[in-house]
Amino acid sequence: MQVNEARIFVGRFKLRSGLLMSLTEFCKQKNIRLGVFSVIGALTSAKLGYYGQDAKKYIECVSLDKKLEIASCVGNISLKDAEIFVHAHITLADHKGRCYGGHLMPDSIIFAAEYYIKELAGGELERRYDPETGLSLWLED
Ligand code: ZN
Repeated sequence: MQVNEARIFVGRFKLRSGLLMSLTEFCKQKNIRLGVFSVIGALTSAKLGYYGQDAKKYIECVSLDKKLEIASCVGNISLKDAEIFVHAHITLADHKGRCYGGHLMPDSIIFAAEYYIKELAGGELERRYDPETGLSLWLED
């Protein structure tokens, strides 16, 4: 699908908010139905998911109860069950530079979070259950 750049937002999410919730609420508030984003900053705790490809479910949830740098957080915005849905992956670094990574889960709490969100126009992508992977993936024609 070919799309065009539309609105671009830059800013900062609030201290002590959930990162995934902040992203989702912002996109819903601005009605961003398709887009991509990146975030850098720091978290005071994090939850990361690991999807088991054989089990077809998130088999591990890594809870990190420590202060971490958001070395990278990237993702996309599309639709799932007709609602705006944010899918984010994150790499976090500890005080020694050791990194953790995975699928961003709720309850990852912001210390600082600077975002860059790019809305895309000219198409929509809807997530639907895919029996081969067990995931909700973008529907292909
Ligand atoms: Zn994921």
